[in-house]
Amino acid sequence: MRILIVEDEKDLAMILSEILNMEGYYTDNAYDGESGLDNALSGIYDLIILDIMLPVMDGIQVLREIRKSSITIPVLMLTAKSEIEDKVLGLDNGADDYLTKPFNTKELLARVRALSRRKEKTLISDNIEFEDIILDKTTHEMIKDDQKIKLSKKEYDILELLILNYGKVVSKESLIMKIWGYDADIEYNSIEVYISFLRKKINAVNSRIHISTARGRGYTIKEKKNG
Ligand code: CA
Repeated sequence: MRILIVEDEKDLAMILSEILNMEGYYTDNAYDGESGLDNALSGIYDLIILDIMLPVMDGIQVLREIRKSSITIPVLMLTAKSEIEDKVLGLDNGADDYLTKPFNTKELLARVRALSRRKEKTLISDNIEFEDIILDKTTHEMIKDDQKIKLSKKEYDILELLILNYGKVVSKESLIMKIWGYDADIEYNSIEVYISFLRKKINAVNSRIHISTARGRGYTIKEKKNG
C-alpha cells in the first residue's frame, strides 16, 4: 500500500508519514498542490491524503484534476475545523472521506483502513485484458487461456504501465519514476533485467504480445503479426 500525502505543513506531513510507516504503509510527501497532482497522476498510489489549503493549487482543484483524469484512487481530504464548507465541496468533487484537523491517530488509521478495503474491493473485478492475456491485479498473475504465470510486483507494474500506454513508447526514466518513485536508487540496467524476465514470461504463456525496444527511447508493447 503506497500512500501519497499532500500537505504543506511539514511537521504535520512528517507526523502523518511516521504514523503510517509504523503501520506498514509506504508514503511519499508533496508539499504543494501542483507537485501533489503530478505525483497523483503517476497512478502508483493506492490512497491519497489531501489537504485543502495548499500553496500553488488548492486541494479541491487537485481533486478535480485527479477525477478528471479518471483515476479512481480513494482520496481522504484533510480539513481545518473552520472549513466545514470545504468538506461539502470536497465530497461533491469526488473525495471519498474527510478528516477534520486536529485528528487523532486512531481515527486516521481507521479511515485509511476503511478506504484501502474499498480499494481492494474495486480491484477484484478490475483485471486488465489486453490482446490475448489477462492481468490479475490482485494475484499479479498473467493469464492466457488455461495458462497462468506469476509476475513479481515490479514486473506486473511494468507490464501494466506498458499496456496502459499502448501505442506509445515508455521511457526508462518514466518507468523508474512511476514504479520506483522520484528518489529511487535504481539503475537503467535493472530495468533491462525486468524487461527480459517479462519477455520470458510472455513467451512462456505463448502470448502474441511482445515488448519491443525503441532504441534509446524506451519500450513499447506490440502485437506479433500472424505468420
Ligand atoms: Ca495546509
